Amino acid sequence: MIKKFIRRVLRLGSTPGPAAPVVIPVKKHGIRREALSNAARRTCDGLHQAGFQAYVVGGAVRDLLLGLKPKDYDVATDAHPEQVHRVFRRSRLIGRRFKLVHVMFGDETVEVSTFRAPGGSEHAVDEHGRVLRDNVFGTREEDAERRDFTLNALYYDPHTESVLDFQNGLADMRKKLVRIIGNPNERYREDPVRMLRAVRFAAKTGFAIEARTKAPIRALAELIGNVPPARLFDEMLKLLLSGHAREAIQQLRREGLHHGLLPMLDVILEQPMGERFVSLALEQTDLRVSQEKSVSPAFLFATLLWHEVLSGAKTLQDKGERPMAALNIAMDEVLARQTDKIAIPRRYTAVMKEIWACQPRYEQRSGRRPFALLASERFRAGYDFLVLRAASGEVDAELAQWWERFQETDEDGRAAILVAPTTGERKPRRRRRRKSGAATAEGSSGANEDAGGVAGGTQ
Ligand code: ATP
Ligand code: MG
Repeated sequence: MIKKFIRRVLRLGSTPGPAAPVVIPVKKHGIRREALSNAARRTCDGLHQAGFQAYVVGGAVRDLLLGLKPKDYDVATDAHPEQVHRVFRRSRLIGRRFKLVHVMFGDETVEVSTFRAPGGSEHAVDEHGRVLRDNVFGTREEDAERRDFTLNALYYDPHTESVLDFQNGLADMRKKLVRIIGNPNERYREDPVRMLRAVRFAAKTGFAIEARTKAPIRALAELIGNVPPARLFDEMLKLLLSGHAREAIQQLRREGLHHGLLPMLDVILEQPMGERFVSLALEQTDLRVSQEKSVSPAFLFATLLWHEVLSGAKTLQDKGERPMAALNIAMDEVLARQTDKIAIPRRYTAVMKEIWACQPRYEQRSGRRPFALLASERFRAGYDFLVLRAASGEVDAELAQWWERFQETDEDGRAAILVAPTTGERKPRRRRRRKSGAATAEGSSGANEDAGGVAGGTQ
């Protein structure tokens, strides 16, 4: 107890206490409360009426100041999680390491967190200084101090429409800088994910990472390895869906942050074919985000890991494994290696495997098989994947064009463009009919074993 008290006094003594905020009135920043989402406004109003403080914080304020549309809203309050929960009928308590409340209005969810004190010796930490639990509540000023970057520590008060700036965030935004709050070394040790976040915000805003903020990253990059895989997945997904994935991945690489993260990202980016494929996939994703179209995380992760699967399959084939078996084994091996570091949820890995496994089926353009493939549920995703493979030069562009025609034309047109089986390609085995009747679309997937396999045609 006494030790803790002394440490606390020393800590407060060695650094100046949290500063009072600079208050920026609406006429200077121009953000009216109507600019907030309905849910964010109602969450702040509800808390305010119940006698609590409530501010929009974090990314939403940053994005509004930059003239961008916020993706989601975070609210900070002096109400404790249980108190927040009591104010809103449609809300739920979440999180272990960090207790939060999700408040729902319609289909929008606002994340409400209670003011926290900065991490430090009072918090449970692992042997590298990573904070394991972070539920020490604090004042509004302390809450601003424990945030990651100055541009994320701006508080918008919907009641007065003013912005409170505790950490010189506005000045840094004007200078186009991502600057960490406090001592960068300590802050990254407390939470190594902040290194990824620095890159994400720099890529998203086009700002530079300020020199002191950047300096320790290379040396501390390996601490990312201690972050729980589920958390890494969440942060990676945010980065990939930021609308600036291509730039962010390049920057991760420049900062030496890609090693061991998506373990083979470095290898992939260094293979000429793989790099082109990944770049095209990321560009396409960024474009879709900018057009507010949906993006499939499974498709995206399937593209990131594809060349790793391919080279695994090739090695196995060189050792005498049959093409489809080689592909299947390689898929499982790659996923096992990845999910050890970054927990891609099973609902995504299942789709990734389907996308990969159906690729050889696009090489078969004779008989009934193309019809069965077209009717299958994963046709579209598999086809989009094939288009990317063609665009990157991995497979013949003609193959993707053929499938485009095959989709667009009618039944007769499809029959007309079927390709005669080439010599060497085995005739489709006659399926032994089950008593129950005709083969279904999925039933034809047994034909995969006849395929030349994807690995043969690459690198
Ligand atoms: P986005 O626009 O992607 O949601 P964001 O800045 O809102 O970006 P969130 O992950 O939603 O990011 O976090 C909300 C806020 O919580 C951040 O702006 C930051 O102030 C604070 N925060 C989040 N993660 C951390 C962290 N690891 N360390 C310190 N503060 C954090
Ligand atoms: Mg946010």
